[in-house]
Amino acid sequence: NNLCYKKELLFKYLVIGDYGVGKTSIIRRYAEDTFSSKYKITIGADFAIKTITWDNYTTINLQLWDIAGHERFGALTSVYYRYALAAALVFDLTRPETLNSIPKWLKDLRNRSSLPNGQNLPVILLANKGDVNLDNIPKHLDEFCKENNILTWFITSAKENINLDIAMNTLIDYTLHHK
Ligand code: GDP
Ligand code: MG
Repeated sequence: NNLCYKKELLFKYLVIGDYGVGKTSIIRRYAEDTFSSKYKITIGADFAIKTITWDNYTTINLQLWDIAGHERFGALTSVYYRYALAAALVFDLTRPETLNSIPKWLKDLRNRSSLPNGQNLPVILLANKGDVNLDNIPKHLDEFCKENNILTWFITSAKENINLDIAMNTLIDYTLHHK
């Protein structure tokens, strides 16, 4: 009976970055396929789950955690980091200063979390609001990722649903293949 080989996995991933870069919008678009231009402040630990049929044998319940209003404090509570397996760091292409905050978020993440095997969580960088301003893509993102041990970067748009699936799949692929 090949049902015996089916597995259902739960992955907890974090979505991190400064206030207003589009974290909540990315999570909503990715998990629910909706977008709202209303600026909502999220409060409390918040997550959405997306169920992905990865292949014939594997279903993944991807739990995406929003930092939910804790942007201002910098450091997140340990509940947030606990059992997390990956992170998407987000900045806003229309506000270059939000890229400058990424090393700080990354440092906090690496100080406070690790995979069950002791290694650092895999991280990708999302240059969000790519629908607005494509003249302003920082030129050094490849180098930035290399220096900071970030797997790769993507231009994304929560508004236009650009590159969110491919970005998350990069992390899922990593999680599935690094035990
Ligand atoms: P958060 O504070 O990081 O959770 O950011 P939000 O998701 O609340 O988004 C902040 C603002 O940016 C809201 O007005 C969103 O509608 C807007 N926004 C988020 N993502 C995008 C995007 O991809 N493109 C555009 N044009 N606006 C976006
Ligand atoms: Mg938010």
